[in-house]
Amino acid sequence: MFGLNKTTSKFCDLKGKVAIVTGAGKGMGRADSLKLAGAGAKVVLADISLQDCQSAVEEIKKGRGEAIAIKCDVSKKSEIDNVVAETLKKFGKIDILVNNAGIYPFEPFLTMPEQNFEKVIDINLKGYFLMAQACAKEMVKQKSGAIVNISSIAMGQVGVGFAGLTHYCASKGGITAMSQAMALELAPFGIRVNCIAPGSIDTPGTHTSTMEPKVQEAMNAAIPMKRSGKSEEIANAVLFLASDESSYMTGSTMVVDGGWVAG
Ligand code: NAP
Repeated sequence: MFGLNKTTSKFCDLKGKVAIVTGAGKGMGRADSLKLAGAGAKVVLADISLQDCQSAVEEIKKGRGEAIAIKCDVSKKSEIDNVVAETLKKFGKIDILVNNAGIYPFEPFLTMPEQNFEKVIDINLKGYFLMAQACAKEMVKQKSGAIVNISSIAMGQVGVGFAGLTHYCASKGGITAMSQAMALELAPFGIRVNCIAPGSIDTPGTHTSTMEPKVQEAMNAAIPMKRSGKSEEIANAVLFLASDESSYMTGSTMVVDGGWVAG
């Protein structure tokens, strides 16, 4: 029988926790930052565009949250090291990392130049590795932490392929596989590593993407819920995986896609 525990704190409470979110200036990263701050976390918003992050920080501060903005291109180790150093200087620790910064430039496989393939891998995959490694080195010291890596249903193995995104699919498959390996190595240190695989989510990135309109139409037709997701719907999953409410989850990938891969 389940007893009522009247002293239980709020669901997904992050009071006292410090979180870093990459690609936090726009889209899902911004929504994640607002959601984590709303749950009580102090949030470090890192993005290639400092201006976008600063406006998100203002929004958090208006809601009486605590946040700072730091310019960071996640493909550059020196900028990642700076985010970690500044986070420790300002807030003293790192409890949560949301690896979210990513790009998805559509480009045909047969004519894709080597440097374009490398750019996507550098940002989407190497950037996640570098940021997770730098943060995990701090989390190990306190023997706790939660890392949430934003993958995609383009990761492979779920029956959905994306023409024009060879480099992107490679990076997202890499994120999912890498997260499982990290989960194994970091479990002894009390650090959990999980992935989210979003389906089609309406963000500024999808509006400026070079995807052909007919591809978007085909995607919407394939989604049982017949609509794209909202950034906030991903942020809810991020909050759960970042909080102690998901304390028995590590090495998992949570699909949030309106039923797309089930179809
Ligand atoms: P978005 O709207 O384009 O926002 C991404 C943010 O990351 C932007 O502020 C962008 O800045 C920034 N960014 C780009 N390159 C960066 C770099 N090198 N270092 C740091 N920040 C960088 O994208 P989104 O749609 O929210 O996507 C967020 C994540 O979800 C990505 O990993 C994406 O692959 C994944 N995802 C998206 C969808 C979807 O349907 N939207 C589905 C599955 C997975 P600029 O705009 O200035 O470049």
